[in-house]
Amino acid sequence: MNAEKRTKIKELLNETAYGTEVTVKGWVRTFRNNQFIAINDGSTINNIQAVVDFQNTDEALLKRVTTGAAIAVKGKLIESAGKGQKVEIQVQQLEILGDSDAEKFPLQPKKHSLEFLREIAHLRFRTNTFNAVFKVRHSLAFAIHKFFNDRGFIYLHTPIITASDAEGAGEMFRVTNLDFDNPPRAENGTVDFNQDFFGKATNLTVSGQLEAELGAMALGEVYTFGPTFRAENSNTSRHLAEFWMIEPEVAFADLNDNAQLAEDLLKYCIRYVLDNHPDELEFLKNRLLEEEKSKPQEERSEMDLLTKLHFCATSNFERLTYTEAIEILKHSAPNKKKKFKYLIESWGVDLQSEHERYLVEKHFKKPVILTDYPKEIKAFYMRLNDDGKTVRAMDILFPGIGEIVGGSQREERLEYIEKRMHEMRIPAEDLYWYLDTRRFGTAPHAGFGLGFERLVLFVTGMTNIRDVIPFPRAPKTAEF
Ligand code: ATP
Ligand code: MN
Repeated sequence: MNAEKRTKIKELLNETAYGTEVTVKGWVRTFRNNQFIAINDGSTINNIQAVVDFQNTDEALLKRVTTGAAIAVKGKLIESAGKGQKVEIQVQQLEILGDSDAEKFPLQPKKHSLEFLREIAHLRFRTNTFNAVFKVRHSLAFAIHKFFNDRGFIYLHTPIITASDAEGAGEMFRVTNLDFDNPPRAENGTVDFNQDFFGKATNLTVSGQLEAELGAMALGEVYTFGPTFRAENSNTSRHLAEFWMIEPEVAFADLNDNAQLAEDLLKYCIRYVLDNHPDELEFLKNRLLEEEKSKPQEERSEMDLLTKLHFCATSNFERLTYTEAIEILKHSAPNKKKKFKYLIESWGVDLQSEHERYLVEKHFKKPVILTDYPKEIKAFYMRLNDDGKTVRAMDILFPGIGEIVGGSQREERLEYIEKRMHEMRIPAEDLYWYLDTRRFGTAPHAGFGLGFERLVLFVTGMTNIRDVIPFPRAPKTAEF
């Protein structure tokens, strides 16, 4: 049967041409009563049932029908007598394509914890949860490209290896092929990166923004969508050391245009998944309800997954300034009752995740776009406001997630950006190429970074970012 063409289970489950002969290939989920095989081929989270005539089938062959085994069955498609499915296959031929030792196969037909599944990430694709998560992840990636393509944006591939420590945050992974045990040294004893592969010290990129700006200042509207790397030692459920980021950059746009673009993009993506993945979302909704049963009432979501997605796809995001947010937070109950870990006392402090989540989940109860942050807590390239204190930054905060987007209108005025770089001790010589955009035909422009995994987290209702990327990279975690 190996050579025979298979029909995907997704198609068969919607089929009503009873009596036709079909071939299915997939992996055994369960085998009950020596008779009913639940087969899954990945095309859908639903299985098809194959019914074996066990009295007329070789016993040794039946013994090999174990959870995890790859099999092919050929038979007639018939209307199902059992509950829960419309069709099933009356098996005429059964072949084992690949055995799976039931004693050793780690995935048993029972509930496994997500923590356990993370340890066997090479096999977790075979569970319904991860089938659904990675299908939604795929569709979100597709939707993002479609959104930008339909609007005439150019997909720009920015470098993964870079010599610039753009944000000066020092959270970068070094890229080198120097001999670690015996690196060449300069006269003062420091490692001599002139002799390194690229003739200078290089790192994995933390963001494609600076290069995207170069593209936007000629092509008009560009976006990047690629991996980024941060050596931040934050062992949280929202941070990865390797994550994917979408970074549009638009010429002749201001902060309002930027906020609108981000809001449109997020809504488009959510709607795309609602329209294309009803089965997966239904499954993920129930998974979340199940997971939250073990939590105290106040920690459970107020809306179920589907309601939440519909809500966010249709309601207008709340827009307010950092200064307004500080006022709200200062007078909030958790601040007065000293429930926040970091109390809000004065203007100028950076907002922590607890504050962001209070604004979104308790105060406004909808996505929030915060703008005009103090310049001290933001990057050098953000446009200075006339007050001289705040910059045209924006963060988009989502329920259950906190920050999902960070962006700004860029400082297009050469003298302002040079002054800011000087204040922040960012060497202008290294970024001459970036500053050239401000020297030759500068223009207002704006852009943002959307963390792809945070979007997948939100849409799937998963709670740990390590469960929405196939092979998570995090401190002390680089398996597979
Ligand atoms: P956070 O405060 O959550 O660490 P950030 O301010 O460092 O975020 P930016 O540098 O603005 O984030 O990056 C843009 C977007 O990339 C963020 O809004 C977020 O969605 C995502 N992001 C940032 N760091 C990570 C990470 N370590 N893992 C996954 N996504 C991330
Ligand atoms: Mn960060």
